[in-house]
Amino acid sequence: MDPHAALAFGPGDSRRRSTGSDWAAPPVPWWAQGRPVGLQRTRKGAPLAIRKRYRFLNWTIRHDNAPDAPPTRHMFRCLGEEEDGRSCGAEGPVAADFQEAQRWPFEHLREHQDHRSFAHVAEVPWLMIPEKEPS
Ligand SMILES: [Zn+2]
Repeated sequence: MDPHAALAFGPGDSRRRSTGSDWAAPPVPWWAQGRPVGLQRTRKGAPLAIRKRYRFLNWTIRHDNAPDAPPTRHMFRCLGEEEDGRSCGAEGPVAADFQEAQRWPFEHLREHQDHRSFAHVAEVPWLMIPEKEPS
C-alpha cells in the first residue's frame, strides 16, 4: 500500500472498540421515538409539533474500515492558472485506485506545461458511532 493510501485509512478498525484517540463529538440529541424533528411533517408539509422525549448521547466519528464500507476514492484537480489569471480547475477521473488517479496530472501536464500544482481530493467513508445504541 502506498503512503498516501495509508493516510486515507486511519487507526480505526471496525473490529475493535473505539479508543480515546478517536475524536468525540459533543452530545447530540437523539429523538427517541423517531426521526429528527426537522424531517417529520404533517400531511400538508408543516413541521410536526415536538412532543417526544429525548436524551443526549455521546457520538464518536471514525473511519469506516468495514469490508462493506464504501470504497475510498481519489481525484486530482488542477490548481494551475490560465494565461488570463483564471484558475484552471480541471479535474481528473475519480478512481478507487490512488495510482490510477495519479495518472491524470501527467496527462494534463502534457497539454498545459505550466500547470504544475494539483490538489488531491479524497472521498473517505466515515461513521458516526453512538456511545450506546438508542433503544
Ligand atoms: Zn490545469
